[in-house]
Amino acid sequence: MKAAGRGHVISVTNQKGGVGKTTTAVNLAAALAMRGHRTLLIDLDPQGHSSISFLEAAEIDGSIYDALIEAQIGIKDVIYGASVDNLDVAPARIGLAKLEIKLSGEFDGHYRLRDKLAAVAEDYRFMVIDTPPTLGLLTINALVASSHVIVPIQSSYLALEGTDDLLDTIQRVRQRVNPDLDLLGVLVTMLDRRTVLGRDVVQQVRDVFGDKVFDTIVTRNVRLEESPAYKEAIFTHAPKSTGAEQYAKLGEEVLARV
Ligand code: ADP
Ligand code: MG
Repeated sequence: MKAAGRGHVISVTNQKGGVGKTTTAVNLAAALAMRGHRTLLIDLDPQGHSSISFLEAAEIDGSIYDALIEAQIGIKDVIYGASVDNLDVAPARIGLAKLEIKLSGEFDGHYRLRDKLAAVAEDYRFMVIDTPPTLGLLTINALVASSHVIVPIQSSYLALEGTDDLLDTIQRVRQRVNPDLDLLGVLVTMLDRRTVLGRDVVQQVRDVFGDKVFDTIVTRNVRLEESPAYKEAIFTHAPKSTGAEQYAKLGEEVLARV
């Protein structure tokens, strides 16, 4: 991977909200860390949901926002340990939303994250970036800095709506700045296998994305919703849940694909 040394940088991206980006970023990062890989979870969503999945809001003073905006603040200054061995978090805070405006006037506005991550490239085997529900500057920063993208698609009516815009954005980033950017896989999330709609969506996603679709499918599981409240990933919160089993399998598939 060119973007940042020898490790892999994986963005979890879909401009739709509520499709399982944060849940996937948090639990994939934990799955990789639990396999013994040094992993950094980077929260690039101003809502900070993946940050608060591991950290108390009160303990976050420096955030990725500071590192992206201040030349003298490095990524190392905004990294916190998580409740999982081998896992660190670079958290967001709400000010990140203002970053879009600030950086849009800067000539290097799209490259800030990539440049900052170079300083910790040797420290992590994986970096997993949670992105906001837009295709704005923060998401572009994530794609520019990444070697791979995972696209979660929620099993719902109009599941595939908007994916053309996303694929187009990925393609433009690839052509202009980051030729190595690879669509690692498409992950069906929140499937309810009992419904015809759910089964139809899986088929539609497979028809469009073929073998890019991960074999792992994440079904609806209330344990996945709960675990952030305990500052834990699913593997310690509910180790025997289907959510834990499925995200562990996703981790294995990711390891096999990168
Ligand atoms: P996004 O980051 O794309 O907005 P989230 O990961 O925050 O999506 O998921 C949206 C909501 O759905 C959250 O409340 C989350 O806890 C819940 N959720 C995500 N995945 C599952 C799942 N497999 N089963 C049940 N709830 C889920
Ligand atoms: Mg989110």
